[in-house]
Amino acid sequence: VDWSAEAGWSDWSVEPYGSIVLDPAAMVLHYGQSVFEGLKAFRQPDGSAALFRPADHARRLGRSASRLAMPEMPVDLFLEACAELVALDDDWIPDEPGQALYLRPLMIATEAQVGLRDSRRYRCVFLAYPVDPCFGRDFAPISVETSGESVRAVRGGMGEAKCSGNYAASLMVRREALARGFNEVLWLDGLERRWVEELSGMNVFFVWRDGDGPDGVRLTTPPCQGTIVRGITRDCVLTLARDLGIRVAEEPTTIDGVMAGARSGRLVEMFACGTAAVVVPVGRVADAGASAVFGDGREGPVTARLRNAFIEIQHGIRPDTHGWLRTVRND
Ligand code: PMP
Repeated sequence: VDWSAEAGWSDWSVEPYGSIVLDPAAMVLHYGQSVFEGLKAFRQPDGSAALFRPADHARRLGRSASRLAMPEMPVDLFLEACAELVALDDDWIPDEPGQALYLRPLMIATEAQVGLRDSRRYRCVFLAYPVDPCFGRDFAPISVETSGESVRAVRGGMGEAKCSGNYAASLMVRREALARGFNEVLWLDGLERRWVEELSGMNVFFVWRDGDGPDGVRLTTPPCQGTIVRGITRDCVLTLARDLGIRVAEEPTTIDGVMAGARSGRLVEMFACGTAAVVVPVGRVADAGASAVFGDGREGPVTARLRNAFIEIQHGIRPDTHGWLRTVRND
């Protein structure tokens, strides 16, 4: 799908997978106007396919685009393009729980122009490919390490946008964490480096043993204050937890509180969530050379319950009471 200043959005067209031609002066290459989404389509028990919360992904792509001075794609056009892609081939949507067809809409500024001003040309491409959950189908606990001196986002910056540059900012720090044996970076806030924010591609949750809920637990996640991606999985987890009678709060949490909570046993579980990873337990966290384990380091019951509920809705096994699935007609 293309956009031009003269004609606005064009219709979508489906093309065989292959390279796209860009002018070396294309503005995306020089000024970084590149935003994307990641969403999934799931096989349903009746054999049909359903996209998971596609309109929410369309709206978030619009917000990311706006932040980078790019045009917003109409939600209907986004939905049509996704549905068309999913319906292309009935065989490429996997059947196993946790598996899905992953869609990656990517929008870039294509006008050839050296000099900073608004681009007059954009292109949005939608890629699709079958995937497993990105840390594997067994959801084994991952380990995370805080980001040290590096910062991913500050208030007023672009941390909430799903723009490519944010992931470039993560790569070096992630490589260093991986070299020390961790699976992911736990980003702290950009000002005090004290408040827990998110992982490079996932939001985080904490399960505290101090609530009035049926299990005596309380679930918290850092609030969205412009520096983290407003995860759609995060929103699902908050909703499902409320459905299950678990007390939830969007609450600022310090890394010192996390380390102390894990050691004292008050913080019993941590997990990360996102479209690609689904819901994955965090077994161990390290900060400033010290490390702490949640519970016995294995997946806790609250994480498992929430993930199972989430996966069952995605695969049409549990009723979709919140209207998250959008069936794709195959005609
Ligand atoms: N944070 C970041 C930085 C991400 O890239 C993602 C993935 N989009 C998320 C959180 C989780 O978002 P979602 O649940 O919508 O996939």
